[in-house]
Amino acid sequence: MNRRQMICALSVGSLPVLMAGPRALGQTQGRKYELLLKGGRVIDPSQSFNAPADVALAGGRIAAMARDIDAAESERTVPVAGQIVTPGLVDLHTHGFAGVSHWGVDLDQYCIARGVTTAIDAGTSGSDSFDGFRRLVIDRSRTRVLAFLNISRIGLIGQPGELVDKRMIDVPAALRVAKEHADVIVGIKVRCSENYSGPNDIEAVRAARSVADQIGKPLMIHVGNPYSPMEKILELARPRDIVTHAFRRGGGGGVIGPDGRVSDYIRRASERGVLFDVGHGSGSFSFAAAEAALQEKFAPATISSDIHAYSALGPVFDLPTTMTKFLHLGLTLEKVVELATVAPARAIDKTGEMASLKPGSPADVAVFDLVDGDFSLVDSQGEIRKARQKLVPVLTLKRGRIP
Ligand SMILES: [Zn+2]
Repeated sequence: MNRRQMICALSVGSLPVLMAGPRALGQTQGRKYELLLKGGRVIDPSQSFNAPADVALAGGRIAAMARDIDAAESERTVPVAGQIVTPGLVDLHTHGFAGVSHWGVDLDQYCIARGVTTAIDAGTSGSDSFDGFRRLVIDRSRTRVLAFLNISRIGLIGQPGELVDKRMIDVPAALRVAKEHADVIVGIKVRCSENYSGPNDIEAVRAARSVADQIGKPLMIHVGNPYSPMEKILELARPRDIVTHAFRRGGGGGVIGPDGRVSDYIRRASERGVLFDVGHGSGSFSFAAAEAALQEKFAPATISSDIHAYSALGPVFDLPTTMTKFLHLGLTLEKVVELATVAPARAIDKTGEMASLKPGSPADVAVFDLVDGDFSLVDSQGEIRKARQKLVPVLTLKRGRIP
């Protein structure tokens, strides 16, 4: 291996980052591929693939995926034997806009550095602030950031809740902004919690519904101790809409009712295509609720973190930790990867643009170690479970490059 082929690891936080040699990636010097991930176990649920394979990248895209690709055909080779190679993760529920919203975090720190190549902001900004969100977060982040637009004009900027004053519900303004930023807005967000929306929740969901329908994109509904009954709110949900925080403590508006069982109206909503997302956050994930749901074979449609300023230091930490919790609860590794890659990509109708290692796809790739040991996992109630395995991100590539 000559100097130019050398790949050195530099520790940033706990994460080794690939450093390019003197020549930038993108120049193949007559070879077929720029980068080859060799010897890993590839899990790509978009192709129902789970087996040892090599993945070759060129021109920012996946160039080849095969059992054995000759290293001589690639400018650089990264040995990933014993490691897991997946499409870059897609986190369906995050909060950026640090410094503007008290909920916001630096998405690059918690997403791209932890295997998440696409972060979907869940309504941190509304129509009054989306232009700033685009300029300060979407355009500047190394993580690819897309967003649900909050139906409240002010979004999650301050206190009290964004919908306690119903004058903040503004359909024409949301519609104008959603059309203007149609390339990055993937749907409309509305929060139904007594302290954020008071008695205005149903009116806000109707307004959000109207905007979502006019732009042909889904609604993301946050439900957590709402003023109105969950069942009434769900009557307004349509197929492909996302209900987030679904595995919260029983009785607070999640899939588990006060009787400790998956409510019938939840099952009916799921059967007609409403997606129940994790959205862990600081107050919205309970091991007991998730266990009760899984026991009744009611699994989440997507696993998302709801990473924000009050969850980033625990109990969430990041999306791989949230995925680890579902591994511990008995979902297979393939399933957990599916629910954090192709499933959220499908939910926002972006499967052609992300979450696949199929040749021709954008080369967003994550590499993980599945580490054995004794790990403490904590939920939003402070309940601790001891896990024997943990998914640890070791490398992220975005469009085939070091992000
Ligand atoms: Zn959230």
